[in-house]
Amino acid sequence: VKRAGRHDFRFFTAAMQQRAARHLQVVNGLRHALEREQLRVVYQPQVSLKTGRICGAEALLRWDAPELGAVSPAEFIPAAEESGLIISIGDWVLRQAVRQARRWLDAGLPPLVMAVNLSAVQFRIADLPSQVAQILYEEGLPPEYLELELTEGVALQDPQGAIATMTQLHDRGIRMSIDDFGTGFSSLSHLKKFKVYKLKIDQSFVRDISTDVEDKAIVCAIINMARSLGLTTIAEGVETLEQKEFLREQLCDEMQGYHIAKPLAPEEFERMLSRQRDS
Ligand code: C2E
Ligand code: CA
Ligand code: CA
Ligand code: CA
Repeated sequence: VKRAGRHDFRFFTAAMQQRAARHLQVVNGLRHALEREQLRVVYQPQVSLKTGRICGAEALLRWDAPELGAVSPAEFIPAAEESGLIISIGDWVLRQAVRQARRWLDAGLPPLVMAVNLSAVQFRIADLPSQVAQILYEEGLPPEYLELELTEGVALQDPQGAIATMTQLHDRGIRMSIDDFGTGFSSLSHLKKFKVYKLKIDQSFVRDISTDVEDKAIVCAIINMARSLGLTTIAEGVETLEQKEFLREQLCDEMQGYHIAKPLAPEEFERMLSRQRDS
């Protein structure tokens, strides 16, 4: 037992060392990712369940790091948050997405709301609302075309501060949605005070919606609660026709997922939008 224990311990530290080394590589790589133009933004369509048409896009960051291989956002976003690099990277994503939304409007494509993920670190910057307003102004996009996706976590540490920031964003006409809704145990009383406009039902509840009675019940409860609070709902991670039909029957407003499209390069997204305009 002793020997096995010691062996386990050595194995454990080796794995930890490897992880720490990788983490360091990721952070160091990220420092230069912007100037080396290794970052790009892809766009995933959001579709109205009423009309079947594209009504929004979620901007998702991609990093092509030649020296590291594929690094998923699930790996590099937390590293960017810990190192503070998320401030400059997040700023860049926001500007790219806002600029893209403006270009599509200028091209006469059907108007859509551009959703951008905001990290809790960015959310705590004191003058975030005026920074966002500044980017919208410089790129010439009216605020109603932008939506900021926040997780329930942003409010956990400092609910009063979060309410103040959200009120300022709301007063500037910028919409906010709660991402991964249902995973963070938000209290309903908070939801009322937050100036939120949309709930994004987490994909972990959507995955087994057709077979799991509990997931079904959770999704229905979220949709009904949102409706009674006057909030819009969108389901994430919709992969099958069955899931889509269920959500539509339950009067969920919108959906997003591989069933419609994966996150797309701007040109691909634009082709999809123009096909829709012409149909
Ligand atoms: P998220 O905001 O919850 O984004 C949804 C994730 O689900 C995306 O992963 C998307 O590609 C994936 N997805 C979409 N449809 C489906 C589906 O039908 N099935 C499945 N299995 N997955 C689907 P991605 O792009 O790898 O991003 C992962 C996370 O990284 C995001 O989760 C978000 O938290 C974070 N992230 C990505 N881009 C940014 C960014 O620009 N800023 C910040 N702060 N976070 C970002
Ligand atoms: Ca999101
Ligand atoms: Ca999500
Ligand atoms: Ca997530």
